[in-house]
Amino acid sequence: MNFELTEQQKVVRTSVRKFAEEVLGPNAPIVDKEAKFSWETKKELEKINAWGISIPEKYGGSGLDSICNSIVIEELARVCASTALTVTVHNSVAAYPIYKFGTEYQKEKFLVELATGKKLGAFSLSEANAGSDVSATETIATQDGDEFVVNGSKIYVTNGGVADISLVGAKYVSENNDKGFAILIMEKDMLGYEIGEPEDKMGMRGSSTTALYFDGVRVPKENILGSLREGFKVAMHSLDAGRIGIAAQALGIAQAAFEMSADYSLHRVQFGRPISKFQGVSFKIAEIATKIENARFLTYRAAWLRDQGKSFTKEAAMCKYYASMIGREVCQEALQIYGGYGYSKDLPLERFYRDVKITEIYEGTNEIMKAIISRQVLQNL
Ligand SMILES: Cc1cc2nc3c(=O)[nH]c(=O)nc-3n(C[C@H](O)[C@H](O)[C@H](O)COP(=O)(O)OP(=O)(O)OC[C@H]3O[C@@H](n4cnc5c(N)ncnc54)[C@H](O)[C@@H]3O)c2cc1C
Repeated sequence: MNFELTEQQKVVRTSVRKFAEEVLGPNAPIVDKEAKFSWETKKELEKINAWGISIPEKYGGSGLDSICNSIVIEELARVCASTALTVTVHNSVAAYPIYKFGTEYQKEKFLVELATGKKLGAFSLSEANAGSDVSATETIATQDGDEFVVNGSKIYVTNGGVADISLVGAKYVSENNDKGFAILIMEKDMLGYEIGEPEDKMGMRGSSTTALYFDGVRVPKENILGSLREGFKVAMHSLDAGRIGIAAQALGIAQAAFEMSADYSLHRVQFGRPISKFQGVSFKIAEIATKIENARFLTYRAAWLRDQGKSFTKEAAMCKYYASMIGREVCQEALQIYGGYGYSKDLPLERFYRDVKITEIYEGTNEIMKAIISRQVLQNL
């Protein structure tokens, strides 16, 4: 067992950290305040090949391993969680599923432009009546010759307002009356594809979240991802990969909160000494540091399993559940260490606190993560 990062993984951390601090740092409070997606940042991210992190070079990506992918997301989130969200959704649940399940035609047509950042991707599963329960999906794709006609709507689509390509989950009825669940690759300029108003959110305010509406959108049958019957498997596998990214995101936010609060505890003097000298504060630092290390191990292990081609469903659920939970706890305790100053909008702690909360909810709530973990643990006894 080797706990050392490879040279490449270390270089990725150092270079993305520098990029994040220099390029995202000044903009992070602004995109939060203005609740505005930054197209300038999107362009800057092309320079570090952030749009195809683990996609092979053959398709325009960087071909990095999943641990590198986690490190990139962690380092972006350490500075700007909204940007990390845009990037992780694009990579893990839009580009990657096309690479993993797509036909050569789909890879040439969609993946290359996603991996190079020419186009942005989204993943649309959630609906008004189908959140945790994907089987309640009401969007319907009815086959008509060589096309599927899609009617329905999606809610809370990350990158919804900025993505050119969205993977959309729908129930289908085929020509021979077969029924099931499929993932369709849809493009924003298809007739009948409409984007809703931006959601006014508590956190992740620099990322685009919208509804999508489909009114008789005609999707060629070549755009079905995986085979028709494989839709549910494609969706669940994509979410497994996505959850490692969400864990990395929570980890990055927690790391930022930890660094700030630990440093503050050394310099803030009360009762004639730095507050780090009080056990009530130093124990918080110890707990925070331990939780972050723990979450990092779980996250990298899930990523490593994925790179080995082994099953990582349980580990992805574990790291997503744990990192998001401790992410929230860490941000809360870090803010507490700052006292009243932590509550001020002059400091980023209150943003970290708002941003981190959603990591316990999206790509499967933590209750659903526990259901997945317990199912896996119990069936393998
Ligand atoms: C900012 C943001 C971005 C998002 N991005 C995307 C995206 O890009 N694509 C996408 O498809 N969706 C996205 N979502 C939607 C998100 O994935 C869902 O909100 C999430 O899956 C939960 O679904 P729900 O909100 O309908 O809650 P519900 O499923 O209604 O759950 C409500 C509560 O009941 C609990 N619950 C439900 N079922 C069970 C059960 N079986 N056992 C125990 N507890 C249960 C849940 O844990 C939760 O606490 C996003 C949401 C937000 C807020």
